[in-house]
This record gives sequence, structure tokens and C-alpha cells, in this order.
Amino acid sequence: MSCRLAALFLLATILPAAAETPAKQLFGAVEAPAPLAARSIGSYARGCLAGAALLPVNGPTWQVMRLSRNRNWGNPVLVGFLERLAAKAPAVGWNGLLVGDMSQPRGGPMSSGHASHQIGLDADIWLTPMPKRELTYDERERVSAVSMLAPNTLSVDPKKFSDRQFNIIRLAAKQPEVERIFVNRAIKKALCEGATGDRGWLSKVRPWWGHDFHFHIRLACPRNSPTCKPQVDPPSGDGCGAELQSWYAPPPPKPTKPSKPKPPPPEITLKDLPPECSQVLVAK
Ligand SMILES: [Zn+2]
Repeated sequence: MSCRLAALFLLATILPAAAETPAKQLFGAVEAPAPLAARSIGSYARGCLAGAALLPVNGPTWQVMRLSRNRNWGNPVLVGFLERLAAKAPAVGWNGLLVGDMSQPRGGPMSSGHASHQIGLDADIWLTPMPKRELTYDERERVSAVSMLAPNTLSVDPKKFSDRQFNIIRLAAKQPEVERIFVNRAIKKALCEGATGDRGWLSKVRPWWGHDFHFHIRLACPRNSPTCKPQVDPPSGDGCGAELQSWYAPPPPKPTKPSKPKPPPPEITLKDLPPECSQVLVAK
């Protein structure tokens, strides 16, 4: 049986049963990448990854954290990018980078932690520099990341968020492959207040919930991925005015009459992902 026929046969037999299974269970269960041409398929929060490359758990200037999650996979473009960024980190005062979640071996939705990170173009980088020694497997599981926020969460804690953190985020944002960087609103505020000279890079740095322990790098759809769905451009400008203010707006008042709780959104299944992702899931 040809490879293609075998894949179709597998699809026909496996997928009816898999159709209703949450896609995060299917993609979370696969331990190796799809042996197909490398490409990111679909959108950052609805897609998958073929031909993933592995970021080695140790490099000269990086270490991967939480190895049990098996999420240090990405489009080879992302892996190459992270290796180059890590090599530049010592120039801005970092011994190296601690790399958090990238993607699962075949991308797709994850059982915990993220809505995006599905197509091998997202990576979380800890805001704590890499120590000088190699961390053990156990330490990489257990060491807690450090929040950069002051206790009131409105600003950063200057004892934790210093020039070093500022400089690594700016360095990442200035790389042409980077389309977005997500940080907590208080970190965006600190960047807005601290930026001098060129402020163009600030438009890529977007406030988002969480992201006070790490920053999130998102690369643009690379050339190797014709079915990668790009995001719309961020609004022009540095985002330090009304947009940042909107993250500090008081929450809307609670309705006086209790409303019915909303049902949880339905789980993403294979039919919600690009059809190519069903092939990626079963490719051998
Ligand atoms: Zn992230």
C-alpha cells in the first residue's frame, strides 16, 4: 500500500472514533513529530504542525524547562530563531534563556496552559535569566518562575523587573521574524515608560493576561508554510496611550440580577481544525 493510501486508510478507520474526541487529547498523546515537510498549518489558536524540529534541551545559552511536557517542538524556523536569539542574549546581560512551552510534536490544542502555541511559531521565554550551571531534570520540573509584578499587580516590581528584562524583550521585539510579543499590562507600562529613542518595536509588544512570569514570542508565518494563517496587523503606534489605558479600566459593574452562567465553550475537535491536521495527526 502506498504511503498516501495508508494514510487515507488510517484516516477512514481512526477518525470516525476521533471525530468527537477533544483534539487536545489526540494531539497531546502523540510523542513524535509528523514525518512530513515542515510547515505550520492554520492559525495560531486553531492549527497544527508538520515536520516539527526539536529545540535541544541544552544549548550554549539556553535550557529548556518542564521537560516532561514534551513541548519543545516548533517549526524549524522557530527553533533556528530561538537559537539565534539565545546567542544574542549575553550581549544584553543574560547568561542565557530559560525556554518554556513551545508546541507539542504535532502542534494542535494543548490540555493545559494555552489557547495558542498550536502551529510551532509561539514560544514562552522566562523573565528569569538562565543560571550559570545546568539545571537537573527535577529542577526544571519544580523551580518556580518569578512574577515580575508588584503586589498590587498594577506595576512591575523594580527589584525583579530591571534593565535586563527590558533589554531582552526589546531585543526580541526588534527581530524581523517576530510579529508579536505578549506581556502583562504592567510590563507593557514599564516598557512604555522606559523606552527612549526608537519606539517602533513597542507596537509589536501587546498586553495580555498573565505573562508576568514569562514573555511570549510569536513569529510571523514563514515562507515554508503556505497554509499558515497570518494575524491582522496590530494597530499602528506604540500602544502606550489609550490602548494601554484600556487595560487599566475598571471592570464593568456586576449586573444586579444574577445572570445564568454561560456554558463552557465546546471543546475543539478535529473538524474545527484545518483538514490537513487530520493527516498530520496520523502520518507515519
Ligand atoms: Zn505563551
